[in-house]
Amino acid sequence: MALSDFPRHRLTFGPSPVHPMPRLTAHLGGASIWAKREDCNSGLAYGGNKTRKLEYIVPDALAQGADTLVSIGGYQSNHTRQVAAVAASLGLKAVLVQENWVDWPDSVNDRVGNILLSRIMGAEVRLDPAGFGIEFKESWSRAIEDVKQRGGTPYPIPAGASDHRLGGLGFANWAYEVEQQERDLGIFFDTIVVCAVTGSTHAGMIAGFAALEEAGGRPRRVIGIDASAKIEETRAQVARIATATAKLIGVERPLRDDEITILADWAGDRYGIPVDSTLDAIRLTGQLEGVILDPVYEGKSMAGLIDLVTAREISPESTVLFAHLGGQPALNAYSSLFTHTSPLPIESQERGVGGTA
Ligand code: PLP
Repeated sequence: MALSDFPRHRLTFGPSPVHPMPRLTAHLGGASIWAKREDCNSGLAYGGNKTRKLEYIVPDALAQGADTLVSIGGYQSNHTRQVAAVAASLGLKAVLVQENWVDWPDSVNDRVGNILLSRIMGAEVRLDPAGFGIEFKESWSRAIEDVKQRGGTPYPIPAGASDHRLGGLGFANWAYEVEQQERDLGIFFDTIVVCAVTGSTHAGMIAGFAALEEAGGRPRRVIGIDASAKIEETRAQVARIATATAKLIGVERPLRDDEITILADWAGDRYGIPVDSTLDAIRLTGQLEGVILDPVYEGKSMAGLIDLVTAREISPESTVLFAHLGGQPALNAYSSLFTHTSPLPIESQERGVGGTA
């Protein structure tokens, strides 16, 4: 089967915008940096990377006659907010298990940002004290059972819509979208930088670009930046989902090791807790480009990009595409980090790879 054989329920506006980041590029003095913006890919509750993944999962949910989407994430999960939005837009119910993934001392962590939006959109939010983990959880099974007992038809969506047969397809399609945009712009992105936690965003890209390469496309690097601080689990999950997705869309060859590249240096010690390099990346991108990043995901992947470009690990000749996957609503739970306007962070020349992680 090819990717185009899978049904897709349109939830995004169309191809997400791609644009250059000229002031960040000039500041770093190396590769040309561009962004592709999943943070403004949809009108459904600010969109994001899960909205794109759900385009390929929703047809399966509707075909099964589901009336309730059941999913799981942290208190500030972007994923569950997007599930709530998609459910609302389809006239379905949503039950969301929201676990205490991040030990973050903000008194409104379970009230503002993503969780606030999910409640506005009518989702049943179940707070659970369990900690971070992308594996299958008991609380999630219980939520699924509860929906059945009430006479409903649940459709389970795992954390990040990742560990699902169709979870990688949305970002396999992203690769095709990038290729079309490159043709329109007369440009080639030889390096892509993307944040990885539950894995199917990065994995889908790997599968999609492998399919394009098999059809004669130029090879490129897709660099995952881990934000889970559990690099071995992330790598295993990305490799597994990339392999399964590649097979699903008809890639005949096994994936090469160099196609699955995930770097660990910018995650800090814990999922959800920003480190200095995260905050520098957020301020730098905000002050040079007016582009907002969050402290859990995109601040960490941008910190990786900044260091890799500065250290010439990404060549000055490269044209780099930063996959901005969304996540800004969570900033509301991190206001204590930004109580003052800070001047531009340290000069790029002073930074080394992973130096401030
Ligand atoms: N960026 C944002 C804003 C996210 O919400 C997520 C979700 O986990 C990621 C990156 C990581 O994507 P994935 O879970 O598919 O690895």
